Amino acid sequence: MSKAFSNLLKHIDKLSHTDKERVFQWVKHYVEPSLTVDGRLIDEMREVRYKEGFECPHCTSEHINRFGKVNGRQRYRCKACRKTFMDTTNTILYRTRKGNEWITFVECMFKGYSLRKSAKIVGVTWVTLFYWRHKLLSALKQMGFEQFDGIVEVDETYFLYSQKGQRGISERKPRKRGGKSTLRGVSKEQVCVLVARDRTKATVSKVACMGRVVKTKVDGMIGSKLTPNNVLVTDAWRAYKTYADERGIEHYRIKSDDGKHVIKGLYHIQNVNGLHSRLKHWIHRFKGVASKYLDNYLAWFLLVDSHSNESTKHNIKELLLTSFVFEMTETYRSLRLSKFNM
Ligand SMILES: [Zn+2]
Repeated sequence: MSKAFSNLLKHIDKLSHTDKERVFQWVKHYVEPSLTVDGRLIDEMREVRYKEGFECPHCTSEHINRFGKVNGRQRYRCKACRKTFMDTTNTILYRTRKGNEWITFVECMFKGYSLRKSAKIVGVTWVTLFYWRHKLLSALKQMGFEQFDGIVEVDETYFLYSQKGQRGISERKPRKRGGKSTLRGVSKEQVCVLVARDRTKATVSKVACMGRVVKTKVDGMIGSKLTPNNVLVTDAWRAYKTYADERGIEHYRIKSDDGKHVIKGLYHIQNVNGLHSRLKHWIHRFKGVASKYLDNYLAWFLLVDSHSNESTKHNIKELLLTSFVFEMTETYRSLRLSKFNM
C-alpha cells in the first residue's frame, strides 16, 4: 500500500458516517458508471414511457415532428398544439442536470436515511428532497403487480389520525406526539391500514379508511388482484368472511388469542403480522407521520423492507425507470396544501 493511499484511508476513517457516504457515492460514479444518467438510460426510459406509441405530453396527439436539438438531446414539436417537448418533459429529469443526484437519492431512500442526512449526501436542499421523496414514492406506488398467487394473508393495523405539519388547524385540538386515542378499541379517530401479502411477497399496503375496515373497502383495495384460485387468510373480523363468501374464495379465519395468532398449519397471518410490527417500529423514527402522507410512507417502508431481497438491484433499476417515466403534477406547494381525504 502506498503512503498516499494509507494516509487517505486514515483521513476517511476519521470522517462522519454522512461524509463517508459522500465519499462512497463519489467513488462509485467512477467504479460503476453503468448506473448514471446518460444517453442509454434516457433511451431506455423513452421506450418505457412511450411503450403504447409516441404522443405529445401536452395534448396526447400522435402527430409529431422532430424539432432540432437542445444540449445534444432531441426536441420535438406537436403538429396539433404546436408546443415543443423533450423525451424528459414533465419528468424528474426535465430541466435538471441532477440526474445522477437523483440516483444517489434513490439509494439513500433504500437505506432509509432521513432527509437531513440525505440532503448532505446528495448535495441538494432539504426542500428539494422533500419534493423528490414524494415524487419517488408516487412512482413507487404505480409499480404494483397484476395478481396474487396462492395463499393471501390479510390483516389491518391502525394509526392514530394526525394532521402533523398542517398550520391553522381549528377542527381538532392538537394532540401530543404518539398520544393515545381517547376512545377505546378501534374508533373513527384511527386510520386503518390494510396489508395483504401472498407467499411470494407480492404486497398491497395502503390506507383503507377511518375506523374499522368494511367489505367494500377490502374489495376496492385487493379485489382486482384476487381470483378464485386464491385462499384468503384473515382474522375473525366479519367483513372478510362476507367478502370471501361473496367472491367464492376459500377463506380461513384465524381467531386471535391474547393478541397472538394461532397457526393452522399453512394457514396463518404471521407474515403480515410480522410486517405490521416491523412497519410500526420503522415508522416510529419519524415521530408521527401526517395521515395524508401515510400511503407514501407505507410504499417507502415496503421498499426498505424488501432491501434484503436478491432482486433489489433489479428493483432499483425498475424504480429509476418508473420514476423517470412517471409524469409529475404535484409541486412542493400542492403537496404541503393537500388534504387527507377518506
Ligand atoms: Zn400536442
